[in-house]
Amino acid sequence: MSDSLLSLVSIEDYEKRKNNISGELFFGYPASSIVQAEKNLLSKDVRSIAYFCMEYGLAPSIYNTFNGHQPVSDENKFTHHEVFSNLRTMDYFFSLNIDKMLDMPIYSGGLGVLAGDTLKSAADMKLSMAAVGLLWSAGYFKQNFWFQYGQVPEEMHWDPYSYPGLVPLKNIIKIELEGAPVYLKLWKYFVYSYDKKHVVPLILLDADIKKNSDKIRKLTGQLYRSDSPWWKISQRAILGIGGIAALDELGYSIDMYHLNEGHAALAFIERTKGKFSYTCHTPVAAGHDRFYVQDLEKMLKKDELELLKKFGRDEGDPKVINLTTMALSVCEHVNGVSKKHGEVTRLQFPKYKNKIESITNGIHTHTWVSQPMAELFDKYKKAFGDWRQDPTLLKNAVQLKSDKGFRADLWSAHQENKKYFAKMLERWQIKENVFTVAWARRIAAYKRPSLIFEDPKRLLDIAKRVGQIQIVLAGKAHPMDNLGATHINEMLNAIDLLSNERESVRVIMLENYDTYFGKLLTNCVDVWLNNPLPPFEASGTSGMKAILNGVLQLSTLDGWVVEAADANIGKIFGYRHTGTEIGDEGNLRFSEDSKALYTSLEEMAALYYKTNESGRLNVDSQWIDMMINCISQAGYFNTHRMLSEYQQKIWKTESYAESPLRA
Ligand SMILES: *Cc1c(COP(=O)(O)O)cnc(C)c1O
Repeated sequence: MSDSLLSLVSIEDYEKRKNNISGELFFGYPASSIVQAEKNLLSKDVRSIAYFCMEYGLAPSIYNTFNGHQPVSDENKFTHHEVFSNLRTMDYFFSLNIDKMLDMPIYSGGLGVLAGDTLKSAADMKLSMAAVGLLWSAGYFKQNFWFQYGQVPEEMHWDPYSYPGLVPLKNIIKIELEGAPVYLKLWKYFVYSYDKKHVVPLILLDADIKKNSDKIRKLTGQLYRSDSPWWKISQRAILGIGGIAALDELGYSIDMYHLNEGHAALAFIERTKGKFSYTCHTPVAAGHDRFYVQDLEKMLKKDELELLKKFGRDEGDPKVINLTTMALSVCEHVNGVSKKHGEVTRLQFPKYKNKIESITNGIHTHTWVSQPMAELFDKYKKAFGDWRQDPTLLKNAVQLKSDKGFRADLWSAHQENKKYFAKMLERWQIKENVFTVAWARRIAAYKRPSLIFEDPKRLLDIAKRVGQIQIVLAGKAHPMDNLGATHINEMLNAIDLLSNERESVRVIMLENYDTYFGKLLTNCVDVWLNNPLPPFEASGTSGMKAILNGVLQLSTLDGWVVEAADANIGKIFGYRHTGTEIGDEGNLRFSEDSKALYTSLEEMAALYYKTNESGRLNVDSQWIDMMINCISQAGYFNTHRMLSEYQQKIWKTESYAESPLRA
């Protein structure tokens, strides 16, 4: 047995890893699932998909945590988090200490978390899939906040060699950059299904080995390092060209290459005869990779460059290669990540409009559901059915609307989450019966992180008239994003400004937003605030995590929310995008949209305090109806439904799951 796993996966220094990897078990999980997945990928009779992405947020701190035989090493723990609040004295004396492991730090935000959730659902649905990414040895970055200075980024350290579930392979591949060899070591991480019977292997490429020069070794250091075109082009060449070489090295038989974002488009120049599909994830200009031909010329081979010129020429500037154009032109099937984003993408790239479809993003239900909610769904299994096996069954929540017992139980489950949160932040006097709103996501200007602080007086006025408000914030800005940093400064300044009003409005900002905090906040607050400038939020997924847990939405009409807006899942406010012009992502409409935000916030706070009168529940409140609508919508906004659509519309592979080797 052990031979079988070892003959299929050539683990480096196996002797050292023996206590965690045997014929039976892989870090406590069944090794037979790995053997089956590897055999499927090698077989020509099984149709397999290769999934490429620059980043993966796998969230092992909150889901499918591998158990090693030794405790998690200190480098791979992340326990200490500073808090910035308008109760400043507490911030000086205390910080949060949470005994948890570090997320494998190879992601920056929503794109990576979506990729991670996709692999988990692919495993749940028994797809034969191999994923390709990079082993970012310096992660994204570690975030420190300083009043006056704002965000101060620090280099991140972790230890891949002792990270539970991650294994170095003996395989090393070679690609060419600037006419010189670049060696890439392969690693594997196995993404297990919820029942642990299936896996999707994630192959990670690593330039940090002795055979490479010091400069090359740093290439897989920091994710999205963008100091110069050399960094960006090299990182994309490693993912695309290196990714194809890695799949070949492992002998996998791949039928469909899926590019999750244009970063991986160079894969095509390495495998021109393959079948490709592509998901575009953003209408924001900064999300589309554009390189001057003269920069690419220095780095790539002649024939590679010819293909880029043929298929990837930027429509606006012939001196530029645009990887989005490249992906759009070479892929047979293409999709945007929500209905609205599909429309916007067709407007942005009219030449390809006939092949651009929409498949709305989702989240992996098992990862993001809180314990109390999962128990509630189990208790009402008669109405829900086997929701673990098929998360789309959560749509049945609406059937329970008139069941007073369910309504009360739903509220209790929510309160249990909120109590847990209040306990964690007890020193900052967070209370379970106070109206609580969270805004947490990647800090980017179009997401308008500081919108709620546009008029602090108005915010205070609401709290004084309607009831106390707790606001929780978190998010990282890319270290080179000056505008993003400005938003962080504004948020920190607003916290400072509100320090004399903390009995009315309590504000807390948490450092180093990651999947752990993503889960904590989407599980535990009352209202999830989402205020991107339409139509620039392609989908957004954090709100989907919130609705799964009965957390109401306070949102602008953009991304996935457009499709759920009629289902009464909270309040929709602000500027609405219509027409055929995309509009200006620089015109953030702060003044008008903040007014609309305050009006909706006030209505929600008022309804909240009618529903929860200092701990006494009004079980007939509309608030509970909306919570039920949220859960019901979570039956749609999940990666299980999403992947069924990819199979039908993009990969055309409904049959992939029924392969002969599948037991
Ligand atoms: C879910 C998640 C995101 C994505 O959130 P959006 O709503 O799409 O901005 C980003 N970062 C983390 C850590 C997450 O968990």
